[in-house]
This record gives sequence, C-alpha cells and structure tokens, in this order.
Amino acid sequence: MADYLILFGPPGVGKGTQAEHLKTTLGLAHVATGDLFRDHLKRETELGNLAKSYMDRGALVPDDVTIGMVRERMKDPDTQNGMLLDGFPRTVAQAEALEKLLAERDQTIKHVLFINAPKDMLLERLGNRWTCKKCGAIYNANTKPPKNAGVCDVCGGVVYQRDDDKPEVQAKRINVYLEQTAPLIEYYQARGMMTMIDGRQSMDQVYADLMAAIEQAK
Ligand code: ADP
Ligand code: ZN
Repeated sequence: MADYLILFGPPGVGKGTQAEHLKTTLGLAHVATGDLFRDHLKRETELGNLAKSYMDRGALVPDDVTIGMVRERMKDPDTQNGMLLDGFPRTVAQAEALEKLLAERDQTIKHVLFINAPKDMLLERLGNRWTCKKCGAIYNANTKPPKNAGVCDVCGGVVYQRDDDKPEVQAKRINVYLEQTAPLIEYYQARGMMTMIDGRQSMDQVYADLMAAIEQAK
C-alpha cells in the first residue's frame, strides 16, 4: 500500500533537511509546497508571480491557490506510490482539502510527523539558513556551510539567502505559523494520528525519531 505521510512544524525546524533524507529512504514522492512555489517563481509563471507577493511578506499563499497546485502535482504518476508532504497542509482548510483529494483515490493519511522547537532556536536557524538556488539543498552558515563559500556541494549551484529568510520577514513567518498552522497540532492530535518529535536534538537523532515513528505507524 502507498504511504501518505505529513511532515510538519514551524519554519526553521529542519523539516526540509529531514525530508530530503526521508524521501530517499522511503521512496516516496516529495511534495514540498514551498519548493513548488519557488519553482513557479523561477519559471515566472502566473502562479509564481502571485505567490511571490505573499511569500516575500512571510504570509501564506491563499488556500485555493495552494490546494489547486497540490491537486495538479497529485496528477503526476510518482505520487501514486505515496507522498511525503512537506509544508502542506499549513491550515485546517488545507488539511480538510487534502483528505478529500486522497479520498478520491481511496487513500488516507498514514501518519503525521510534527517536529517542534522553541522560538529562539527557530530564529537562530532561519537567520543562518542558506539555500541552493538550483537544487534547493539547505546549508547553515554556522553548523553546515558549503565546502566552498557560496557554491553548492551537491550541484555547484549558487547558494543564497532566501528573501523570506531575511530578518525582517522571519518573525512574521513564525507568527503566521502560530496563528494559522499551529491549530493543526490539535486537529491531528485529536485524531490520534500524530507523533511529536523534539527538534532541539541533533539532525541524526531527529531522523532516528522520525523513522521510529513511521515504523510504529505501520
Ligand atoms: P519553510 O521551509 O521555511 O517552512 P517553505 O519553503 O515551506 O518554508 O515555504 C515558503 C513560503 O511559501 C511560505 O512562507 C508561504 O508563503 C509559502 N507556502 C508554502 N507552503 C504553503 C502552504 N501550504 N500554504 C500557503 N503558503 C505556503
Ligand atoms: Zn545545489
């Protein structure tokens, strides 16, 4: 059976790094709405230009736009073998829409993995986060810099600081998370389908906890 997993947590908690690792191990299609928006932006599509105005402010892109984009992505055949959802759902309305989209193919969410960390740690990590423009690889200026400054270890692309990782926007993104996304904690907890993972631990330990939670959910 195909597995549908949700990875969720505040901005800067390390979701993206863990998702890269997990999707390879689990062989699931990685559906990261932030990456999908950035890809549209790079190609200068209508959707990309619309999303940019929200992303630059640290706001969420409207639900109908985001859900429509995920619906399109779910037409790709690789998603039939399961998905690792990363950064989606981010609102209760998105969570409900996702359930409907999955029900259309007789599927349900297998488990929700919630990585959490305190606000000061999130701000520290976001402030030091640098991203490869080409492949999306994530670096940390303090703990995991690229071997050659400004150059991606993986693909040789340019490593840059995302506009929405700049200090002015960070606090806004965390507040948006607390207001609009944090209600999902209760939503999924009430349904008994979520494991909370301590994002203060090392990347390796967080990964081990994620794998253990996935095993248990089988
Ligand atoms: P992070 O990795 O820091 O959590 P993402 O790369 O997932 O950030 O998302 C970057 C931006 O893209 C968000 O701040 C938001 O503007 C937009 N975005 C991504 N996913 C969603 C979503 N599910 N709903 C609305 N907006 C989204
Ligand atoms: Zn790269």
